[in-house]
Amino acid sequence: MTSGGAARPSLWRPSLFSLTWQGCTWIGWALVVLSLSQLDPEALKAMGFPLLMIGAVIVLSELRPIVMSRLVGNPVSISLAFVFAALYLWGLYPAVALHAGAVLLSELLQRKPAWKFLFNVGQDVCSVTAAWLVMVAAGVTPSPWTPQTDISGQDLWWIILSWIVYHLVNLALVSGLAQYYGQTWWESFSDEFWFYTVSVLAVLALSPLIAIVAVAHPYSWTLLPLLLLPLLAVQKAAQMSREQEHQALHDPLTGLPNRLLLTDRIEQALARSGREDGDVVVMFLDLDLFKVVNDSLGHHAGDALLVDVATRLQSAVRSGDTLARFGGDEFVIVCDGVGSDEVGTVTSRITRALHNPFMSEQRHVSVTASIGVALANALSDPRTLLRDADAAMYRAKARGRNQVVVFHEDMHKEADDRLQDAVGLRRALDHDEFRVVYQPIVDMATGEPVGMEALIRWQDPHRGPQEPGVFIPAAEETGLIVPMGYWVLDTALTQMQAWRQEIPGAKDFFVAVNISARQLLARGLVERVEQSLRTSGIPASAVQLEITESAVMNDLEPIVDTLVALRALGLSLAVDDFGTGYSSLAYLKRLPVTTVKIDRSFVSGLGAHDDAFDRPIVDAIIKMAQSLRLEVIAEGVEDTSQRQALMQLGAGVAQGYLWSRPLPADQLSDWLTVRQPTH
Ligand code: C2E
Ligand code: CA
Ligand code: CA
Repeated sequence: MTSGGAARPSLWRPSLFSLTWQGCTWIGWALVVLSLSQLDPEALKAMGFPLLMIGAVIVLSELRPIVMSRLVGNPVSISLAFVFAALYLWGLYPAVALHAGAVLLSELLQRKPAWKFLFNVGQDVCSVTAAWLVMVAAGVTPSPWTPQTDISGQDLWWIILSWIVYHLVNLALVSGLAQYYGQTWWESFSDEFWFYTVSVLAVLALSPLIAIVAVAHPYSWTLLPLLLLPLLAVQKAAQMSREQEHQALHDPLTGLPNRLLLTDRIEQALARSGREDGDVVVMFLDLDLFKVVNDSLGHHAGDALLVDVATRLQSAVRSGDTLARFGGDEFVIVCDGVGSDEVGTVTSRITRALHNPFMSEQRHVSVTASIGVALANALSDPRTLLRDADAAMYRAKARGRNQVVVFHEDMHKEADDRLQDAVGLRRALDHDEFRVVYQPIVDMATGEPVGMEALIRWQDPHRGPQEPGVFIPAAEETGLIVPMGYWVLDTALTQMQAWRQEIPGAKDFFVAVNISARQLLARGLVERVEQSLRTSGIPASAVQLEITESAVMNDLEPIVDTLVALRALGLSLAVDDFGTGYSSLAYLKRLPVTTVKIDRSFVSGLGAHDDAFDRPIVDAIIKMAQSLRLEVIAEGVEDTSQRQALMQLGAGVAQGYLWSRPLPADQLSDWLTVRQPTH
């Protein structure tokens, strides 16, 4: 198999497919020609108005066939009841002519390709002919001139037999094309067999009654449309059940298969791959930082964006592949018949599909995705494949997003750790396992403190102290950063109030608290900060909020609005880790920030003999900040040569191990008391 699902079998090379097609089509159409030739004006006149009415009802009902779920190419039509009535009344020729016309009409309405409607007409005519053979065997041979007007209970046996024969022959012939749809004959025949059988019988059950009503009385044919009503009810029911099935198996937003159908598709793909060469590949795709986009654009625009993403992804996968929506911003793609060497081609097609920015509310939004890939092996089932692809996806995220990672066994351990993280963080919050430590921020010239930065610590009772660099990203991913951040804010401000009362001079300090992008986008941040200020009694001017540069790199209006509101409260706002992101000068100008924190990575290179790389950068940052009248804080100063270089370049304020590591509140109290300038 090379392309989407199945290689199309040829109509001309010998196979069950071509045999069925050729046989049904030629024989069926020969019967159609024969029937039409038999129906001269005399015969038509003999059948008269009942025929006219039956024909009219058939045309009407063909406009809306009962399409059965999954069953390919062969909808059950309610016109079938009227075709069989004609068969019982007037024999084969009128029935074939009516049926061929009805099927042709419906196929053309559905714009089926020629090879399909040629076959469908032929195949249906063959099936009706099979039913007629039952009548012949039963000794019942009506014709337009000798209609059968006395159908009664005694006839029921051959009538029912004719239904069964029609139904089985019909299914058997349709299944002859199964190869075209990548199925075996038996799979196609048995697929939804009972559902299909019930529908066909429900339709056919009315056929003898239609025949009786048509000719019971000179004008009784006028009642025929009434018999259409129960059939329409059946049709409606079938349509509703189809819609329900669709709803149960598809995501309402994007219309893509949902998890349930996805699992089924993976199962089918695995079953197929057992028979044919080629591997099943499951790709788990998670949009990067989509929650941030969603929060900032609003859910409505976020939904629209997801639909656009789904459309692009759909265009990037082959027709036989399954693209499913797994959840929020997660998609899963299932391909079969893909060699492990071809995976790269598929994923790069997907990445390319997302490459151009999306338009949302008149803005360009860039979307990238982290993709985890799992290849099926002999032991795979849908659950393990999805789990593996998911684990690989998380690895892709951890490697910095917008990456493709193929699953490897080692990743399970990591997945466990991550789960532990999410569970552990929640518990840590509930069990008060977090602490806040404080690092002084000093005036480099005098070494005297001007403020401190609050930094969170986690003492996990099982695993010991955890690095913020590890658990903060986990907290951001899970959203727990929002309550955690508020907890840090409250704790730091309360501590600050205590210092302001204990330590003279502490009234001039500010406390800096880190705020994550998720918090910035969460509703009610401004109110929450206000509340924290009120409860602690700390003036807003003594509080600085630090926002990492990457959080504000996207042009996201709502962030700007929030920053403006925070600034309006009187807080100072610092851009943290400055220089590591994509900030441009023009950009900083637009943000209501007061302070720039130069990232440690630039500071650590200063003062050495070979600081030719970092020095100009730090120089530029400081000059730029001065021209924008922003405060500068240098981070991570560890030795005096760094301090000296910074002071030469014009920086005044810094923090770092040179003065103090981050300390618990009580230890910092001592530190502050010692350092207090004597008044
Ligand atoms: P950050 O905001 O850039 O914090 C400064 C980090 O540099 C701290 O790491 C601090 O301990 C470390 N540091 C300070 N001076 C020196 C030095 O001289 N040398 C070296 N090598 N390191 C120094 P920490 O505490 O591990 O925090 C790491 C990051 O975690 C922080 O980077 C911040 O982005 C995040 N974080 C910490 N606490 C919070 C919090 O309460 N909320 C949020 N949202 N993020 C936090
Ligand atoms: Ca910080
Ligand atoms: Ca920093």
